[in-house]
This record gives sequence, C-alpha cells and structure tokens, in this order.
Amino acid sequence: MNTPDERIPELICELCRQFYDLGWVSGTGGGISIRGEAGIYMAPSGVQKERIRPEDVFLLDGTDLSSCRVLRPAKDPSLRVSECQPLFYNAYRLRDAGAVIHNHSIHAVLAAKMAAPDGGEGVFESRDLEMHKGLRGKGCFDVVRVPVIPNTAREAQLADSLERAMNEHPDVDAVLVAGHGIYVWGRTWQQAKTQAECFDYLFKVAVYAKMAGLDAPPARS
Ligand SMILES: [Zn+2]
Repeated sequence: MNTPDERIPELICELCRQFYDLGWVSGTGGGISIRGEAGIYMAPSGVQKERIRPEDVFLLDGTDLSSCRVLRPAKDPSLRVSECQPLFYNAYRLRDAGAVIHNHSIHAVLAAKMAAPDGGEGVFESRDLEMHKGLRGKGCFDVVRVPVIPNTAREAQLADSLERAMNEHPDVDAVLVAGHGIYVWGRTWQQAKTQAECFDYLFKVAVYAKMAGLDAPPARS
C-alpha cells in the first residue's frame, strides 16, 4: 500500500487536520513525517498544523540520516523544518520507520504523569485490552510497556534520551515525553496512524479508569 510521492504532501495536510480534530496538534504542537521514494517529507515547525498546505511540506534527503539536508524547501521561505526532525530521524535510523507521528494528546500527557509523577523517567503499562492488537506484535493479553522520558526545554534536546528509550524497549513503537506528548512510528504511515490511535486509546482507558476510581488490574505473573 505504497502512497505515491506526489500524494504525500497532501496526505500530510489531511492527517494534520484529522489529528487537530483529535486534539493532538492544537496550538501549533505536534508533527508528522512520511518517507517516500524521493526522500523524507516533513511538516513545517511552529505553524497551525490544521492549516498547512502541500507546498508548506519539506522534502529532506533520506539517504543521509546523520544530518538534515533539505532537497525541496517549503514554498514560503519563512517556514522552518520541524523541530522534531532529529527525533523523527531516530525512528528512521533505528527502526527503519516509514512514518513518524508526534502529538501533544492530553491522554498521553496524563498517562505519562501517572507513570512518572515527578516528570522523570518511567514506564506506562497497559493490560487486558483488545486494542493491544493494533500494536506491532501484541495480543490482547500481552502487557504493553511504553517508556516515559523527561521533557527538555527544546524539542531537539530529546534526541539522546529518546534513542536510549527506543533501544531499551525494542518491542514497542512509541516513547512518551513527560508533560509533553508522544512519539509513535510504524513501517508505513498507515501503521504509524493505527498505532498512534491505539496508544491513545490505551492512555484514555488508564486516565478514565483513574478518574472513575477503578483499581488498576492486578499484575499477571
Ligand atoms: Zn512536541
């Protein structure tokens, strides 16, 4: 289900509008990147994500992931490449991702706070949910563990701790950032989107359960 390159900029705009409606990319937050044949497509930084147009999307060199080389800039010269670029590149480099999504979902923020109340490192755990099946390699009775890393003043400063968390949790395609949001990736944009939705569902269940005063399910051995 490869998406032709000429469709990808419009697809990024369409996904940004959907993510905005979910409350994932409000206030210019969040971002998305998709790998195509010609390189890596990426939304610009610090703009209202629901209003970007295809000509605002950058095309970056996907052959050299050690630096950020712009192959085709956004038409508007005032636009900059996403602040998330080094974080997105981690997923392309370490996991051979086909797409990466970064969002500021309130469910992700609250789930990270429950797992790491002091804003430091932690691990969010989910058990016994059918929606685990939407995650790579997981069944409904598998425990899903998502690492939490502390936030930093600038997005790009997350790169090292994100890489460490990715290496420590090879079975999961997401990293939560305390007080901030989540990075999720997949082999295709469809898988990245599905997984982003499933993780958000898991976080929502945990948050709603806590609000309802329900006990967390007992750990299975
Ligand atoms: Zn962010």
